[in-house]
Amino acid sequence: MGFELTEEQMLIQKVAQDFAIAEVEPIASETDLKGIYPEAIVKRLGELELMSIPYPEEYGGGGADYLSYALVIEALARSCASTAVIVLTHHIMQYPIVKYGTPDQKTKFLPRLTSGKEMGGFALTEPSAGSDAGNMQTTAVLDGDHYVLNGNKCFITNGAVANLMVVFAKTEQGIGTKGVSAFIVDKSVSPWEVGKHEDKMGVRGSYTTDIIFKNCRVPKENLLGKLGKGFSYAMDALDGGRIAVGAQCVGILQACLDESVAYAKERKQFGKPLAANQAIQWMIADMQKDVIAARLLVLNAAALRDAGKPCSLEAASAKLFASEAAMKHSVKAIQIHGGYGYMRGMKVERLMRDAKITELYEGSSEVQRMVLSRLALQ
Ligand SMILES: Cc1cc2nc3c(=O)[nH]c(=O)nc-3n(C[C@H](O)[C@H](O)[C@H](O)COP(=O)(O)OP(=O)(O)OC[C@H]3O[C@@H](n4cnc5c(N)ncnc54)[C@H](O)[C@@H]3O)c2cc1C
Repeated sequence: MGFELTEEQMLIQKVAQDFAIAEVEPIASETDLKGIYPEAIVKRLGELELMSIPYPEEYGGGGADYLSYALVIEALARSCASTAVIVLTHHIMQYPIVKYGTPDQKTKFLPRLTSGKEMGGFALTEPSAGSDAGNMQTTAVLDGDHYVLNGNKCFITNGAVANLMVVFAKTEQGIGTKGVSAFIVDKSVSPWEVGKHEDKMGVRGSYTTDIIFKNCRVPKENLLGKLGKGFSYAMDALDGGRIAVGAQCVGILQACLDESVAYAKERKQFGKPLAANQAIQWMIADMQKDVIAARLLVLNAAALRDAGKPCSLEAASAKLFASEAAMKHSVKAIQIHGGYGYMRGMKVERLMRDAKITELYEGSSEVQRMVLSRLALQ
């Protein structure tokens, strides 16, 4: 399969690349060092119509494809992985509304999200239900015209800034994941508490918090799709999320290569540039190879999603390969930078801390291997 980009895809990619270079890159280091949510950047992304790229225009979305979305996430992550995860979480949250929501739900909630004026979150993980997300304890009990939600979600990206959240909760006990349902929770109608704010190693510009539901009354019309189908909706959304995290990794990988090439040409030791040494050339060669391979895996999975074909295998492959490559090569990028690369404020040091999370969220590397081996062996 080839990836000759269409004119529209190239245009969207250019808008994102130009914006990342002009507005994201200059503040990326400060965003990371101070752990500040880049509010102005998110507002600008809304103005540029990059907060809802593959979703329908009739609800304010970009009306583009998943492949364009992957290109945008790559461009953002090349400058700032925090910005990329804020945007991709906002997208993964909209997906189940677009795919499984009623016309009323779409009309009511999507324009608030597609404009980027309000932020979205995706609340699946709980303290005792991480990789084993189906073991969640949060409950939703019908009481008249409302479902009453009780429980704690943890590690929720955008948790502190979101007004709308897709929340997964048990509506029936004792039947495992078939008892999980999905809800659209609107904070202005059904307030939740924002709990602990995590102080993280990487993606420090994105806020990660606990979300607590205490007798949170959600109108019953906010049930998303069918009762008991929530877990399958979450897994479907995560296929797309894994493509987006894969794209985030490609951006990190490309940035490792950019930084390494520039430094290896500029820094001289033993009377010649570092780049004149074969040991350094080989690290750069391996980086280059994996940037291409990771990008192709991500675009392949995105193209399948655009074609409406199953892509669990390809999305897991892309995410697993790209995240492990990003981790490996961010360490090599520091190696090429020597002691300077180890210093706070150097881009390669940030890239390494940002790369690590990609092996953990949206399903850890072990979970991707579980998905891949199950599909291969079935
Ligand atoms: C910064 C950040 C942002 C996040 N954002 C969100 C969000 O927006 N929404 C959301 O719902 N969640 C979010 N998460 C949660 C994330 O998806 C989970 O952290 C992840 O799924 C892993 O769960 P866990 O941390 O509980 O690890 P655990 O499940 O406890 O796993 C610990 C380790 O054991 C391994 N492991 C577990 N089970 C097995 C097995 N059967 N075989 C082999 N190895 C195994 C795992 O791979 C991992 O290495 C976020 C997490 C972080 C850190």
